[in-house]
Amino acid sequence: MNKKQVIIVGTGLGGLSTALRLSSEGFKVKMVEKYHQAGGRLNRLSKDGFKFDLGPTFFSMSYEFDELVKSTNIEYPFEFIELDPLFTVNIDGIPKTFTIYKDLDKLSEEFASFEPDFKAKIEKHLQKTGQLFHDTEDKIVHRNFTSLFDYFMQLTRVPLKHSPLLFKTMWKELCDSFESKEARMVFSLVGFFLGATPFDTPAIYSLLNYVELKHDGYHNVKGGMYRIVEGLFKVLRERQVDFYFNTEIVKAITTNDKIDYLVDQNGREWHADYYVINADAASFRGEILKRKKYSEKRLNKKKWTMAPLTIYLGLNGKVDKLQHHNYFLGNNFDQYAKGVFKNKVSFAKPYYYVNVQSKNNPEYAPEGKDSLFILCPSPDLRFKPDYSDRESIAQNIIDDLSERTGYNINDMIESKTVLSPDHWQNMFNLYKGSGLGLAHDLNQIAWFRPANHDEKYKNTFYVGASTVPGTGLPMAVISSKLTTENLLNYDRTVSKK
Ligand SMILES: Cc1cc2nc3c(=O)[nH]c(=O)nc-3n(C[C@H](O)[C@H](O)[C@H](O)COP(=O)(O)OP(=O)(O)OC[C@H]3O[C@@H](n4cnc5c(N)ncnc54)[C@H](O)[C@@H]3O)c2cc1C
Repeated sequence: MNKKQVIIVGTGLGGLSTALRLSSEGFKVKMVEKYHQAGGRLNRLSKDGFKFDLGPTFFSMSYEFDELVKSTNIEYPFEFIELDPLFTVNIDGIPKTFTIYKDLDKLSEEFASFEPDFKAKIEKHLQKTGQLFHDTEDKIVHRNFTSLFDYFMQLTRVPLKHSPLLFKTMWKELCDSFESKEARMVFSLVGFFLGATPFDTPAIYSLLNYVELKHDGYHNVKGGMYRIVEGLFKVLRERQVDFYFNTEIVKAITTNDKIDYLVDQNGREWHADYYVINADAASFRGEILKRKKYSEKRLNKKKWTMAPLTIYLGLNGKVDKLQHHNYFLGNNFDQYAKGVFKNKVSFAKPYYYVNVQSKNNPEYAPEGKDSLFILCPSPDLRFKPDYSDRESIAQNIIDDLSERTGYNINDMIESKTVLSPDHWQNMFNLYKGSGLGLAHDLNQIAWFRPANHDEKYKNTFYVGASTVPGTGLPMAVISSKLTTENLLNYDRTVSKK
């Protein structure tokens, strides 16, 4: 039995999944966490008798959780529910609300009066993006790369027919696939799921349309998304994994090629054989390890994903007309999407996403009431350092939602919490409040993303959104697999010496 000690810094999904895998391999794991409870961005807020998922509200690629459960030999720690319809989209000035079904016949009816030959076009789009998904999932997403050469060799195994998608944006691909602005807008929303816009997201990520519509769809968790964390936490406690909350690592003491120990905000020392960093893989290298390549100036120049302005409302009534997921877009899509993250548009009429959390999870609100989560993708703190206007932005959204749904939301509010990017930054050390970590431009993915094995300190590894493969819940689970593989390989090498 391996009795080596591992300290994991951060209890996000990436950290928890790694703890599960490493404890299965016999490592003694301790987890230190800045926040007061586990989960990172996958967290829960309880207030005034209502519950809210703090960040993530759904996930795709549910089979990544299956793999985690199977490979660590545990009982499934939560139960998920497939969402159908997937979501609705309301575009300002268009009376119809589009309902996005997985069933392509029903979906085609939604677009019948907007896009000629919709069914043939969506099938073609999904076939193309589906092939790309299956041609890259194992070769690129599920792999640790050992060198730039190794990465290029893997790329050469991806069929050449996909290469045009490397040289255009998601928006261009959608313009080539559909004629109507409505279809283009709706199927470009997956760009926002990556925390960017379709105008600056590479076309390869159109494969997310295949993932949502054809492949595995979207899932919510019975009892709320936080059940994922509660389930993993319970198993880890049973395995004697120790948790230390309200503990922020602020310094690393190093010699030559290893971290000797970490130091928290109270000066306590944390010693282990290995360190796995679930804090942001880029900013931890800069802020804690003082690495030049990740200096403040260089971090600032990197491309980061959107920052969240989130609103949590407890309502004294039901909003039954809304689905689980609902998008509310304006009528100036190009101008808004191109300007929003650079703080170049007004927040008088923001674009936003509404999730009726109590729809699938009645325990999230008292009988006859609803709990609502609203996300407004916003500029990070580099572009908008002052969010003292957060309440007025929230009010603009609540007024707009009332007007567009016919519910007088203002009169229904029993509980209200508004979090802006500065809060998100402070809660989880998210760089400048960026909600999904480093963006997924071609020069920031795969070999070019901060690696999951530290370049200098050989006993130090990373897991989570800003290392490989990328952001989102299934990616955090894959990341834990890749990180564990690298750590085990390294451990075998040093154990042989
Ligand atoms: C508003 C919002 C909505 C989202 N919606 C979805 C969604 O619907 N579906 C989806 O798949 N994804 C969604 N995401 C993305 C998803 O939440 C993340 O990709 C995923 O949770 C990241 O997990 P992680 O383990 O990488 O990091 P985190 O969850 O950020 O965990 C890292 C942990 O490290 C801790 N930490 C940081 N620094 C230190 C330190 N120095 N010392 C100690 N602890 C430290 C943090 O407090 C945190 O708990 C959303 C994100 C946001 C912000």
